[in-house]
Amino acid sequence: MLMNPVEFFRTLQKKECCECGQHMEEQAESYFMECDRCLAKKEE
Ligand SMILES: [Zn+2]
Repeated sequence: MLMNPVEFFRTLQKKECCECGQHMEEQAESYFMECDRCLAKKEE
């Protein structure tokens, strides 16, 4: 099965936390790969 290029690009844009895999809201100025919850854990 070949993926539609538009779908493929959409998949790339979809952000998921690399720690827990939770979907994250798009944040234009955010480069974090983890969700707020996991980031908070790291700061402790
Ligand atoms: Zn997370």
